[in-house]
Amino acid sequence: MQTVPVLIVHGGAGRYPQAEHEDVLAGCEAAARRGWAVLHGGGSALDAVQAAVMALEDDPRFNAGTGSVLNARGRVEMDASIMEGSGFAAGAVGAVSTVRNPVQLARLILDQGETVLRVGPAAEAFAREQGLKAVDPDTHVTDRQRARWQDAHETVGCVALDDRGRLAAATSTGGVFGKPPGRVGDSALIGCGTYADERGAVSCTGRGEAIIRAGLALRALSCLSPAAGPRQAADQALRWLARHTGAEAGLILLDPRGESAVVHNAPHMAFCRIDGRGDGRVSRGL
Ligand code: ASP
Repeated sequence: MQTVPVLIVHGGAGRYPQAEHEDVLAGCEAAARRGWAVLHGGGSALDAVQAAVMALEDDPRFNAGTGSVLNARGRVEMDASIMEGSGFAAGAVGAVSTVRNPVQLARLILDQGETVLRVGPAAEAFAREQGLKAVDPDTHVTDRQRARWQDAHETVGCVALDDRGRLAAATSTGGVFGKPPGRVGDSALIGCGTYADERGAVSCTGRGEAIIRAGLALRALSCLSPAAGPRQAADQALRWLARHTGAEAGLILLDPRGESAVVHNAPHMAFCRIDGRGDGRVSRGL
């Protein structure tokens, strides 16, 4: 029997100015539809999360790819990761500046299968070897980020379940505003910002240092039990993080039955969920 596909996108945990709410939701929905088109066409969960996250990276409203926040030297350094749940295949990149879509590079690393995480200029050299065009790091810098003075949390992520019951997750970010050069956050780390196995798929957002110390993505899946579904498991993991680190964070979790949770302890976290058949049923919120 075919599984009913599900896809959820998030646009990061943080505080969005009221005037931007509709814009951010529209961006999430457009990206979710991009991923949904892959699932609807019989494509894999892995291809779907990549397509959705690439759409968010190309959307300057989000802190990933184009629109990434600047580090302490006024440069963009981006992290991303992607994982497929049935084969435990994973790929990740940290502190890259000259690729347009970090999640695409993470996917190339996953497909190559030799390593899981590559960082900095060496990761960029691998991107060139794989045929990804170099982009000027300044193309990622938008006027909005240049003018920005405060911390931003608009990392992006996606989880999906395809019609063959396969799960996948992906996350991408410019990190946190003003970070020291070379800082790599949870979004590049499998088990922290991103994880997928046979129990579920997770993408996290929020203060990377706290998420890393909590091992949040894997922790949330480990909280799943016959008595605790996605909602309880995600809540439990997030409560643990808040209690031990005091940080703000959020996560999306999807299980193989298509049950899901969107949880956060930040003022906002934009998301869009599509499930069902055909054009799918869309729900979204902040
Ligand atoms: N988790 C990201 C990081 O620390 C930031 C975020 O989600 O807003 O790099």
